[in-house]
Amino acid sequence: MNRLAILCRLAMVVACLVSGSAAVAGAPRLKGRAVWAHPRDAGRTEASVKAFMDLLARAHVNTVVMEVKTASGVFWPSQRFPEAVVSGYREFDFPAVLVREAHARRIQVHAWFFDFAEGADSAVVRAHPEWLARSPEGQPTTAEVLRGQPYGMAWMCPARRPGYTDQWLVPLIVEFAERYDVDAIHHDYVRYPGDLAPDTYCFCDFCLKTLPTYASYYSEARPLDPLLSPMDRPHLEAHWEKSPKVLPPNWNDYSREMRSRLLLEGSFFPGGHRDLDYFFYEYRAHQIARFTREVAEAVHKVRPRIEFSAAVFKNPVQSGRFIGQDWRRFSPWVQYLMPMDYLSHFGGDFEAHLELLAESIQQQKAWARDFPHLWIGVAAYQLYDEERRPLTELRTLVSKGGDPEAVRAAFDKVSARLLTLAPDLHAAVATYLREPKASADLAARLSAFQAHPPAGYYPPERLLKTLEVVRAQDVEGVVVFSAAGLTSAHLWDALGRFFSQ
Ligand SMILES: [Zn+2]
Repeated sequence: MNRLAILCRLAMVVACLVSGSAAVAGAPRLKGRAVWAHPRDAGRTEASVKAFMDLLARAHVNTVVMEVKTASGVFWPSQRFPEAVVSGYREFDFPAVLVREAHARRIQVHAWFFDFAEGADSAVVRAHPEWLARSPEGQPTTAEVLRGQPYGMAWMCPARRPGYTDQWLVPLIVEFAERYDVDAIHHDYVRYPGDLAPDTYCFCDFCLKTLPTYASYYSEARPLDPLLSPMDRPHLEAHWEKSPKVLPPNWNDYSREMRSRLLLEGSFFPGGHRDLDYFFYEYRAHQIARFTREVAEAVHKVRPRIEFSAAVFKNPVQSGRFIGQDWRRFSPWVQYLMPMDYLSHFGGDFEAHLELLAESIQQQKAWARDFPHLWIGVAAYQLYDEERRPLTELRTLVSKGGDPEAVRAAFDKVSARLLTLAPDLHAAVATYLREPKASADLAARLSAFQAHPPAGYYPPERLLKTLEVVRAQDVEGVVVFSAAGLTSAHLWDALGRFFSQ
């Protein structure tokens, strides 16, 4: 080893020692330490925003992803879209105070937008119902029923131009970026609706016309040319079509439902596979990725250094198919990927979910290799389903005077913790078991306990164990959902301990 090499080796050892001692001194190792938050968490006064920022700083959070546009409207005094401002946020310039106080504590701010999901009665839906995404029957998502309940969200068509995307959403985000010096714009609901009808949207008039053009189902230049495809080959789909004629000659006479059905169930080649759904999904994934590009280009004109983050589903291959969210296509328009690796997005119980989580993160690292930052999303409150569910069962049973055996079974699951943390409540349930009859009073007490459980009811170990699994995958950051969940489950101290290591 020559002298230069020895010096280099020595320098590396010194660097290691220095960084090692820094870690011992409490410098957090995880680079991204974020929480998702709602304006409610920060309140509507300067003092409350400062208090919230102090809470985050104490927990070593260095990035807050704060909602500024939800299904309810926008949380800043928008001049361009005053009708969309949530009441109470005209007078108080919430993002201005938030950014100032966050930056004073070296906390970065990602401004969180619901992109394509709107409230059923939101300002844009009232003003422009023609921008809503439509089913084959011409209905918006608010006409759907999901698990017996009316579906409350109004999904907008991402493709239509001029429409919601270029006339409302992009200008709204640009106005926000002009006004506020946030570090990033955060995309959420950057997709098509999936929970109610993955194959249904969008068949608005614009999409019925545009999808066939996008997928080149005919030539606009020479629409009357005959189909040139030789039909004698053994593998029809393996060849390029020279002059596709996918639409039937009387396409213009088709009803909306018939057009929609053909676009989903038809074949590209006469007699070929029923493969047109492929182009339908491709069109949707393209429209969502196109939006991430268009908004980034527009925002960079007014604030060149701003970055973008996105809350995405855990598997882009599947979400590309089901909700038009193939997030691999968001590069380079999104820098921070935040997959929502929530317990509810995996099967099995808590322990099973940890194994699936580790596997999923390894896949995500491969899918996300074109992105500078991968921060794993964890839903803290969801980790406690096993603690929460027996309480819900117990409350329901007690309110109806339910079968004592069923009450006892639910009680057994929480009895030990109740005895330690809420002995009065424990005694009340024990009394009920001796003389079971419907008790609204006891149900209300259980409900209140559930809403505000004492510290320790939700064991912090579950959160810590989950975060350790994430960190063991060697990722850059973690983003926790949500501030309100951390507060109600008394988990801030645990999160702070984890983030400080
Ligand atoms: Zn559409």
